[in-house]
Amino acid sequence: MIDGKAIASELRDRISSAVAVLKEDHGLIPGLAVVIVGEDAASQVYVRNKTRQTREAGMNSYEYKLPEDTSEGELLGEIDRLNNDSNVNGILVQLPLPEHIDESAIIAAISPEKDVDGFHAVNSGRLMIGENGALVPCTPQGCVILAKRHLGSDLSGKHVVVIGRSNIVGKPVAMLLLQENCTVTITHSKTRKLEEICKEADIVIAAVGRAKMVKADWIKPGATVIDVGINRTTNSDGRAKLVGDVDFEEAVEVAGGITPVPGGVGPMTIACLLRNTFKATCHQNNISGIDV
Ligand code: NAD
Repeated sequence: MIDGKAIASELRDRISSAVAVLKEDHGLIPGLAVVIVGEDAASQVYVRNKTRQTREAGMNSYEYKLPEDTSEGELLGEIDRLNNDSNVNGILVQLPLPEHIDESAIIAAISPEKDVDGFHAVNSGRLMIGENGALVPCTPQGCVILAKRHLGSDLSGKHVVVIGRSNIVGKPVAMLLLQENCTVTITHSKTRKLEEICKEADIVIAAVGRAKMVKADWIKPGATVIDVGINRTTNSDGRAKLVGDVDFEEAVEVAGGITPVPGGVGPMTIACLLRNTFKATCHQNNISGIDV
């Protein structure tokens, strides 16, 4: 079992220590602004957790709750204000946005230097060409940290099969693993013989959004399995339950290491958001040498 909860907690502790150094040596406190539009229940929970963990790490958290009927222009105005606020080092707009707002226009409006989600085209491009200083999407960062904790820091030559090609998870995690000298196969809904391809992987990254899709006989014995999926299902007794894209009960018998859902990739995502906020603060203030 790869314990994402414990590994994320260690990472948050390292970030807290680094934040203390930044405050002591440079008089700076990183600030993260989270903007949420509307009442989506899952988003409200995510934002609450982000705010709490930002504060626990010693950073400033600014929360902006805007009503469902906020116009695109009003949201763009808020982003412009945050782009120009020197107390704000990172800006995150919680997705999904209401349908009348164009998500891509909002992401494009965030200053790339404050884009702690790493979704802006400038940061995607930086990641693609392997440029230092890219703000890398949080969930993919978390996946790589978990794989390295299990397999050691050198992933060279490992064959990784990524299932899913979204801009949020599949594509950026593939780029990160390419930088780690892995051989990366990206698969998706139109891939033929997915099971056979998956069975060749030393590392499987499942980011699909289909409950328990990856079965034990898709996995090479001893392979490392990182399950990004978060799927809401109900137990036999009718209670709500979260499951991943991997059939954990089966796969745990075959895999060399596997992340649970919940308690695997999920906690790493917020920890990496704090890491990005810290890095953005250092970059904006030309500070180097404090590593997290
Ligand atoms: P998405 O819907 O944007 O992309 C899903 C991808 O899966 C697509 O590229 C699609 O081609 C592929 N796919 C769909 N059906 C398939 C099939 N039958 N076989 C192979 N590929 C198939 O989703 P996303 O935003 O990348 O998220 C994926 C999952 O990860 C979701 O469950 C989401 O909730 C979860 N997620 C978790 C975190 C976290 O912090 N743990 C963060 C982001 C997303």
